[in-house]
Amino acid sequence: MSSNPTADLRAAIRSIPDYPRPGVMFRDITTLLGNARAFRRAVDELVQPWPGAKIDKVAGIEARGFILGGAVAHQLSAGFVPIRKKGKLPRDTVSLPYSLEYGLDAIEMHRDAIDTGERVILVDDLIATGGTATAAVDLLRRIGAEVVAAVFVVDLPDLGGAEKLRAKGVTVRTLVS
Ligand code: AMP
Repeated sequence: MSSNPTADLRAAIRSIPDYPRPGVMFRDITTLLGNARAFRRAVDELVQPWPGAKIDKVAGIEARGFILGGAVAHQLSAGFVPIRKKGKLPRDTVSLPYSLEYGLDAIEMHRDAIDTGERVILVDDLIATGGTATAAVDLLRRIGAEVVAAVFVVDLPDLGGAEKLRAKGVTVRTLVS
Protein backbone atom coordinates (compact mmCIF):
# COMPACT_ATOMS: atom_id res chain seq x y z
CA MET A 1 0.00 0.00 0.00
CA SER A 2 1.25 3.46 -0.86
CA SER A 3 0.82 6.67 1.16
CA ASN A 4 -2.00 7.69 -1.17
CA PRO A 5 -5.11 6.25 0.49
CA THR A 6 -7.47 7.32 -2.29
CA ALA A 7 -5.47 5.55 -5.00
CA ASP A 8 -5.16 2.42 -2.83
CA LEU A 9 -8.86 2.29 -2.09
CA ARG A 10 -9.80 2.98 -5.70
CA ALA A 11 -7.55 0.13 -6.85
CA ALA A 12 -9.19 -2.24 -4.36
CA ILE A 13 -12.71 -1.63 -5.74
CA ARG A 14 -13.89 -3.74 -8.70
CA SER A 15 -16.13 -2.26 -11.40
CA ILE A 16 -18.72 -4.48 -13.10
CA PRO A 17 -20.38 -3.04 -16.21
CA ASP A 18 -24.12 -3.62 -16.82
CA TYR A 19 -24.87 -5.03 -13.35
CA PRO A 20 -27.56 -5.47 -12.06
CA ARG A 21 -29.04 -4.10 -15.28
CA PRO A 22 -27.71 -2.64 -18.55
CA GLY A 23 -26.23 0.84 -18.20
CA VAL A 24 -25.25 0.54 -14.52
CA MET A 25 -21.55 0.43 -13.63
CA PHE A 26 -21.61 -1.52 -10.37
CA ARG A 27 -18.82 -0.55 -7.95
CA ASP A 28 -18.13 -3.79 -6.10
CA ILE A 29 -16.50 -3.24 -2.70
CA THR A 30 -16.31 -6.96 -1.84
CA THR A 31 -12.77 -6.90 -3.24
CA LEU A 32 -11.91 -4.02 -0.88
CA LEU A 33 -13.47 -5.89 2.07
CA GLY A 34 -11.43 -8.99 1.19
CA ASN A 35 -8.19 -7.01 1.21
CA ALA A 36 -7.15 -6.69 4.86
CA ARG A 37 -5.10 -3.52 4.44
CA ALA A 38 -7.67 -1.80 2.22
CA PHE A 39 -10.52 -2.69 4.60
CA ARG A 40 -8.62 -1.33 7.61
CA ARG A 41 -7.60 1.78 5.71
CA ALA A 42 -11.16 2.45 4.54
CA VAL A 43 -12.52 2.18 8.10
CA ASP A 44 -9.68 4.32 9.51
CA GLU A 45 -10.31 6.98 6.86
CA LEU A 46 -14.09 6.96 7.37
CA VAL A 47 -13.75 7.76 11.10
CA GLN A 48 -10.69 10.02 10.78
CA PRO A 49 -12.51 13.35 11.59
CA TRP A 50 -14.06 11.99 14.80
CA PRO A 51 -11.24 10.73 17.05
CA GLY A 52 -12.54 10.59 20.61
CA ALA A 53 -15.83 12.26 19.64
CA LYS A 54 -18.96 11.20 21.51
CA ILE A 55 -20.82 9.13 18.94
CA ASP A 56 -23.62 7.08 20.49
CA LYS A 57 -24.68 4.98 17.50
CA VAL A 58 -23.54 4.06 14.02
CA ALA A 59 -26.42 3.30 11.65
CA GLY A 60 -25.55 1.03 8.71
CA ILE A 61 -27.67 0.62 5.59
CA GLU A 62 -28.38 -2.96 4.42
CA ALA A 63 -26.36 -4.78 3.34
CA ARG A 64 -22.84 -3.50 2.70
CA GLY A 65 -23.37 -0.69 5.20
CA PHE A 66 -23.66 -3.38 7.89
CA ILE A 67 -20.13 -4.63 7.23
CA LEU A 68 -18.52 -1.20 7.18
CA GLY A 69 -20.81 0.16 9.89
CA GLY A 70 -19.96 -2.61 12.34
CA ALA A 71 -16.26 -1.88 11.96
CA VAL A 72 -16.86 1.88 12.22
CA ALA A 73 -18.95 1.40 15.38
CA HIS A 74 -16.20 -0.69 16.96
CA GLN A 75 -13.63 1.97 16.08
CA LEU A 76 -15.76 4.74 17.64
CA SER A 77 -16.85 2.66 20.65
CA ALA A 78 -20.45 3.24 19.54
CA GLY A 79 -23.46 0.95 19.27
CA PHE A 80 -24.62 -0.32 15.88
CA VAL A 81 -28.12 0.07 14.43
CA PRO A 82 -29.23 -1.74 11.25
CA ILE A 83 -31.32 0.14 8.71
CA ARG A 84 -33.00 -2.66 6.75
CA LYS A 85 -35.13 -3.35 3.74
CA LYS A 86 -38.84 -3.53 4.52
CA GLY A 87 -40.16 -6.51 6.49
CA LYS A 88 -36.90 -7.77 8.02
CA LEU A 89 -37.06 -6.38 11.56
CA PRO A 90 -39.08 -8.20 14.23
CA ARG A 91 -40.32 -5.39 16.51
CA ASP A 92 -42.07 -2.02 16.11
CA THR A 93 -40.50 -0.14 13.18
CA VAL A 94 -40.48 3.26 11.46
CA SER A 95 -40.20 3.15 7.67
CA LEU A 96 -39.77 5.39 4.63
CA PRO A 97 -39.93 4.71 0.89
CA TYR A 98 -36.85 5.54 -1.20
CA SER A 99 -35.62 5.30 -4.78
CA LEU A 100 -32.41 3.60 -5.93
CA GLU A 101 -30.31 4.23 -9.00
CA TYR A 102 -31.89 0.97 -10.21
CA GLY A 103 -35.23 0.47 -8.44
CA LEU A 104 -37.64 1.40 -5.67
CA ASP A 105 -37.83 0.11 -2.10
CA ALA A 106 -38.47 1.11 1.51
CA ILE A 107 -36.17 1.13 4.54
CA GLU A 108 -37.00 0.46 8.16
CA MET A 109 -35.45 0.63 11.59
CA HIS A 110 -36.63 -0.34 15.03
CA ARG A 111 -38.47 2.54 16.65
CA ASP A 112 -36.56 2.01 19.92
CA ALA A 113 -33.11 1.64 18.33
CA ILE A 114 -32.04 5.21 19.09
CA ASP A 115 -32.93 7.52 21.99
CA THR A 116 -33.87 11.16 21.40
CA GLY A 117 -30.77 13.33 21.07
CA GLU A 118 -28.34 10.48 20.46
CA ARG A 119 -25.48 11.35 18.15
CA VAL A 120 -25.41 9.10 15.09
CA ILE A 121 -23.11 8.52 12.12
CA LEU A 122 -24.74 6.95 9.07
CA VAL A 123 -22.64 4.49 7.00
CA ASP A 124 -23.06 2.92 3.58
CA ASP A 125 -20.66 1.66 0.93
CA LEU A 126 -21.71 4.08 -1.79
CA ILE A 127 -23.85 7.15 -2.45
CA ALA A 128 -25.37 7.51 -5.92
CA THR A 129 -28.63 9.49 -6.24
CA GLY A 130 -28.76 9.83 -2.45
CA GLY A 131 -32.28 8.38 -2.32
CA THR A 132 -31.36 5.70 0.21
CA ALA A 133 -29.21 7.90 2.42
CA THR A 134 -31.70 10.79 2.35
CA ALA A 135 -34.47 8.43 3.48
CA ALA A 136 -32.16 7.07 6.19
CA VAL A 137 -31.35 10.59 7.46
CA ASP A 138 -35.08 11.46 7.48
CA LEU A 139 -35.83 8.25 9.36
CA LEU A 140 -33.08 8.90 11.93
CA ARG A 141 -34.22 12.48 12.46
CA ARG A 142 -37.85 11.37 12.74
CA ILE A 143 -36.99 9.27 15.78
CA GLY A 144 -34.97 12.11 17.33
CA ALA A 145 -31.39 11.28 16.36
CA GLU A 146 -28.78 13.98 15.82
CA VAL A 147 -27.14 12.98 12.53
CA VAL A 148 -23.50 13.98 13.03
CA ALA A 149 -22.38 12.81 9.58
CA ALA A 150 -23.00 10.39 6.74
CA VAL A 151 -19.93 8.50 5.48
CA PHE A 152 -19.43 6.44 2.33
CA VAL A 153 -16.46 4.74 0.70
CA VAL A 154 -17.63 5.66 -2.83
CA ASP A 155 -19.31 8.81 -4.16
CA LEU A 156 -20.83 8.94 -7.65
CA PRO A 157 -20.81 12.76 -7.88
CA ASP A 158 -22.57 12.93 -11.25
CA LEU A 159 -25.70 11.55 -9.56
CA GLY A 160 -25.71 14.34 -6.96
CA GLY A 161 -26.49 12.34 -3.83
CA ALA A 162 -23.78 13.82 -1.62
CA GLU A 163 -24.84 17.35 -2.57
CA LYS A 164 -28.47 16.47 -1.83
CA LEU A 165 -27.46 15.33 1.66
CA ARG A 166 -25.32 18.43 2.28
CA ALA A 167 -28.32 20.57 1.28
CA LYS A 168 -30.18 18.90 4.15
CA GLY A 169 -27.46 20.10 6.55
CA VAL A 170 -25.65 16.75 6.78
CA THR A 171 -21.85 16.57 6.99
CA VAL A 172 -20.83 14.11 4.26
CA ARG A 173 -17.52 12.24 4.06
CA THR A 174 -16.61 10.13 1.03
CA LEU A 175 -13.27 8.51 0.22
CA VAL A 176 -13.29 7.75 -3.52
CA SER A 177 -15.14 9.48 -6.38
P1 AMP B 1 -28.69 5.75 -4.08
O1 AMP B 1 -29.89 5.60 -3.17
O2 AMP B 1 -29.07 6.01 -5.48
O3 AMP B 1 -27.70 6.76 -3.51
O4 AMP B 1 -27.97 4.33 -4.10
C1 AMP B 1 -27.14 3.94 -3.06
C2 AMP B 1 -27.36 2.50 -2.66
O5 AMP B 1 -27.50 1.65 -3.80
C3 AMP B 1 -26.21 1.98 -1.86
O6 AMP B 1 -26.72 1.13 -0.83
C4 AMP B 1 -25.37 1.21 -2.85
O7 AMP B 1 -24.87 0.04 -2.28
C5 AMP B 1 -26.32 0.89 -4.00
N1 AMP B 1 -25.80 1.33 -5.31
C6 AMP B 1 -26.35 2.26 -6.12
N2 AMP B 1 -25.66 2.42 -7.25
C7 AMP B 1 -24.62 1.58 -7.15
C8 AMP B 1 -23.50 1.29 -8.00
N3 AMP B 1 -23.33 1.91 -9.19
N4 AMP B 1 -22.60 0.38 -7.58
C9 AMP B 1 -22.75 -0.25 -6.38
N5 AMP B 1 -23.78 -0.02 -5.56
C10 AMP B 1 -24.72 0.87 -5.92
